[in-house]
Amino acid sequence: MTDTYRNYAELAAHEVEGRDFRIVVKEGRSGIVIVAPHGGKIEAYTSDIATGIALEEHALYLFEGCSARGNGRLHVTSEHFDELRGRDIVARSSLAIGVHGASGDEEFVIVGGRNTQAKALMLAALAKFGATDVGPAHLQGSSHGNICNRARDAGVQLEISLGLRNKLSGADRRLMPDHATAHMREFTDRARQALTEYQRLAFKDTP
Ligand SMILES: [Zn+2]
Repeated sequence: MTDTYRNYAELAAHEVEGRDFRIVVKEGRSGIVIVAPHGGKIEAYTSDIATGIALEEHALYLFEGCSARGNGRLHVTSEHFDELRGRDIVARSSLAIGVHGASGDEEFVIVGGRNTQAKALMLAALAKFGATDVGPAHLQGSSHGNICNRARDAGVQLEISLGLRNKLSGADRRLMPDHATAHMREFTDRARQALTEYQRLAFKDTP
């Protein structure tokens, strides 16, 4: 699917911040940033998942679609995503975690990105949720230009299927709300544990 806008400047020329989209930036204390460049109504529940992984510890950047309709037009692909507040907080971070929504009713998360150590830890941590590094090339987050790879030590990309996002968020009506909340908490806890382990290993490697 081709994006409506090639970059942020084009988007900002046609859309109004505060009406069609909004941007959330929160500093953290870990040097890691969690990024959802297609948040809000663009890729459903990716804002919630990113916020749950960040909590108060990691920095957070959300670019959220909040237009009355047709939020898909606000999707600027990760390689071209150049909004300055996002670029800035990622550039100041050691590691970035990109949170995205993939299509698919099955429950899976494609783990990509260029930091192989963090990626391996995330794959293991989210195995229970169908984590895999197998998926179509455009969901692998392998390009240097991808927003998740613009941190100092690059990053990890999570492409979370719609089926899994519905389960985590509680949108799946077959689940009781408290049950869904527990799924969300377990998913974000596991992702956070992978980041803690990554930091422990990175610290150990420092002479
Ligand atoms: Zn996305």
